[in-house]
Amino acid sequence: MTLSTLTLRDATCPLCANKVSVALHAVEGVRHFDVDLADQIAVVTFDDDVVGRDHICRIIDRAHCDDHGPVM
Ligand SMILES: [Zn+2]
Repeated sequence: MTLSTLTLRDATCPLCANKVSVALHAVEGVRHFDVDLADQIAVVTFDDDVVGRDHICRIIDRAHCDDHGPVM
């Protein structure tokens, strides 16, 4: 089991944070997470035999509400 603190680069509003939560819920191997919008981080506990940190990063980068595109 691994605990990682990941940066929410594109999630900037509560709706974005909610989308990140929903996306993380769907990831196999993710056991627990806290999304902290104020600090723009997600603290994720995951089973590293099942899912890699890079995969979770990509999930988080893609998850944001429709009002915000990726930050260039
Ligand atoms: Zn948003």
